[in-house]
Amino acid sequence: MTDHQVVTRFAPSPTGFLHIGGARTALFNWLYARGRGGRFLLRIEDTDRARSTPEATQAIRDGLAWLGLDHDGDAVSQADRAPRHAEIAHQMLAAGTAFKCFATQEEIAAFREAAKAEGRSSLYRSPWRDADPADHPDAPFVVRLKAPIEGETVIADRVQGDVTMRNDQLDDMVILRSDGTPTYMLAVVVDDHDMGVTHVIRGDDHLVNAARQMLVYRAMGWDVPVWAHIPLIHGPDGKKLSKRHGALGVEEYRAMGYPVEGLRNYLTRLGWSHGDDEVFTTEQALEWFDLDGIGKAPARFDFKKLENVSGQH
Ligand code: GLU
Repeated sequence: MTDHQVVTRFAPSPTGFLHIGGARTALFNWLYARGRGGRFLLRIEDTDRARSTPEATQAIRDGLAWLGLDHDGDAVSQADRAPRHAEIAHQMLAAGTAFKCFATQEEIAAFREAAKAEGRSSLYRSPWRDADPADHPDAPFVVRLKAPIEGETVIADRVQGDVTMRNDQLDDMVILRSDGTPTYMLAVVVDDHDMGVTHVIRGDDHLVNAARQMLVYRAMGWDVPVWAHIPLIHGPDGKKLSKRHGALGVEEYRAMGYPVEGLRNYLTRLGWSHGDDEVFTTEQALEWFDLDGIGKAPARFDFKKLENVSGQH
């Protein structure tokens, strides 16, 4: 199938090595786009300056290169795009879909305390939602998105089905900090929009974020991408994957001399199935990979099975 419109991306935060889970996310995005003649992009989400390192960026790039997951164009640095993120926050301010919030940390903490004491939701609703910012020309402020108060936000997810969030569960989230830097929620939407991303395939730990990101798309009147949140990987015992289940870094498999085809094959099958087929070529994976074959239950990462599959390559 050819669909030149398809644009996917892998958007890792460069805070460590390329994890098996990240590699699988990248692989699914690559397969989905490349199998349809679309584009696969790489964005390094390095906005968290304190935790992001150039070594981690390099490790991620090396891991992707080893796995043969080449991306189109240059990798985008999210941090470099901060002025663009701020520009959008200001457009939202002008449109009234966001507002300047002058509340101090103490006031926010007091709001939460009072809400807790009264048994109300402690999600922050700022008293500045409808205030006139002209009254406070020089005071420090953050920019918050004006979240809807009533109704629901529905994520039509290709893996999880329709996921409904009550809007009263969504707070007036900060999109621009008082130092003018964007938050992740804003940056990711602006970047996906500007990069023309049509399909967001990522771990389901981001599902709740999708509801909040949807509010940014709505506020800007932008097309919402197709969402596909993949269940995280578990160990053979059904528990969250951890070091005791085996090596977690792609680099470790490389160092152990694993055949890359075996690891790729195994990762392709981790949460995606195609009939009873266990082993296939890259060409077959490209032809067959689709979002419908992604399971709703967490895939189990089994070191022994990986060894079996690797032995067949
Ligand atoms: N940077 C995020 C992470 O590494 C991913 C964001 C996304 O895929 O939207 O978890």
